[in-house]
Amino acid sequence: MNILIQNGTILTMQNRKIIRQGAVAIEGETIADVGKTHELKRKYGRGYEKIDAKGKVVMPGLINTHQHAAMSLLRGYADDLPLQEWLEKWIWPIEKNMTPHDIYVGALLTAVESIMGGTTTVNTMYHYAHDYNEARAFAEAGLRGVVGHVCFSWRKTDDRKALEDLAKNWHNKADGLIRVSVDPHAPYTVDPEYMKELKQARGHLNEKYGSEKSPIICHMHIAETSDEKKKIQRTFKVQLKNGVMGYLDSLGVLSKHVIAAHCVALTDNDLETMKKRRVKASHNPVSNLKLASGISPVPKMLRKGITVSLGTDSPCSNNSADMFETMKITALLHKVINKDATSMPADKTLEMATIEGAKALSWENEIGSIEVGKKADLIILDMHKPHLFPLYAEASHLVYAAKASDVETVIINGRLTMENRVMTALNVEKVMDMNRKAKNNLLERLNANVK
Ligand SMILES: [Zn+2]
Repeated sequence: MNILIQNGTILTMQNRKIIRQGAVAIEGETIADVGKTHELKRKYGRGYEKIDAKGKVVMPGLINTHQHAAMSLLRGYADDLPLQEWLEKWIWPIEKNMTPHDIYVGALLTAVESIMGGTTTVNTMYHYAHDYNEARAFAEAGLRGVVGHVCFSWRKTDDRKALEDLAKNWHNKADGLIRVSVDPHAPYTVDPEYMKELKQARGHLNEKYGSEKSPIICHMHIAETSDEKKKIQRTFKVQLKNGVMGYLDSLGVLSKHVIAAHCVALTDNDLETMKKRRVKASHNPVSNLKLASGISPVPKMLRKGITVSLGTDSPCSNNSADMFETMKITALLHKVINKDATSMPADKTLEMATIEGAKALSWENEIGSIEVGKKADLIILDMHKPHLFPLYAEASHLVYAAKASDVETVIINGRLTMENRVMTALNVEKVMDMNRKAKNNLLERLNANVK
């Protein structure tokens, strides 16, 4: 389908360029043209479905660079606990009772919530199974995603099989919507030898299924809490001279295709290492606040020239997939912690949620900005609302005042995924009903296994 969006304010996110009275022409999956409405109208008339964006903002879809999409099924199951107790006593035991179908159902819910909130790409880490998995859920919802399989030292044989199956069946699949990743859970749950093996495994998978333009990346939790260094030392009987990032570098596993979620407890040496190895960061302020993990030194990373993107983390540690909320909290948090209102401006925050997110996923050749030749992943927001009125600067409203529910229309890969707040690919009521049933069955299984 060809689409002409016209009369809107286009936030291209390409060098912060804004086009007023602007238009975007979409042909198939691709952005064919971007410019002034009066010019594009002449070129793209017949055969184009018209969308009038008068009084509206058109911008690239938001990119959530750290999720565990399946966990929407567990939203609100356990809160207000320290990270380790939360994981070991609550989350991991209930997860043991989750079936692949539960994972698929939870991921469908996250996909719906993400799209309805203007997020067009989600980087997710979870357990992969052949028939039902997060990749299938995203593909069915029409959501773009990087879907990983999370690896632990205690299940290497299963991981190896899962990674091969995931890459073979899903990398660059579903019209290019889905890419995959290799996800060592964290440096304290993956032993040093396995960490190295997984890097090699990713290399082999890239030779078979990936390419320089669409690489299979590595997605890992790194330096989430300040005691991570101690946990690594205790668990694997190793000595960490520098920080956690320095330790991973000594194993030779860091590169520009590694996205590190959290990056809370970083030493200055770690920051140097990240810069040197071009490691990308996913900042998850809501999760870090909720689990009391700490605050990532984001302005320091930015000053060093490190790519910093934004993520929500799981629906159990956030508990929403709302990237507008994440943008606002990012901007506010770093102002107050640095006692400097200039430290995290709205323009920069918006970049972190779009073009920097694309870079963090090594996908900036196709997404993250509205540019000719890129994939048509964009969202339209209605600004004619009391809480977005009057208008001086779009970036300010988008970061400080807009809500996920202000997103009116979502286009992913050239396809109208949500139009005037109506989801096209999926029946929202049905997805919620599937989750209600899955939740009840899951609790029954959990209670039966406890007895
Ligand atoms: Zn996480």
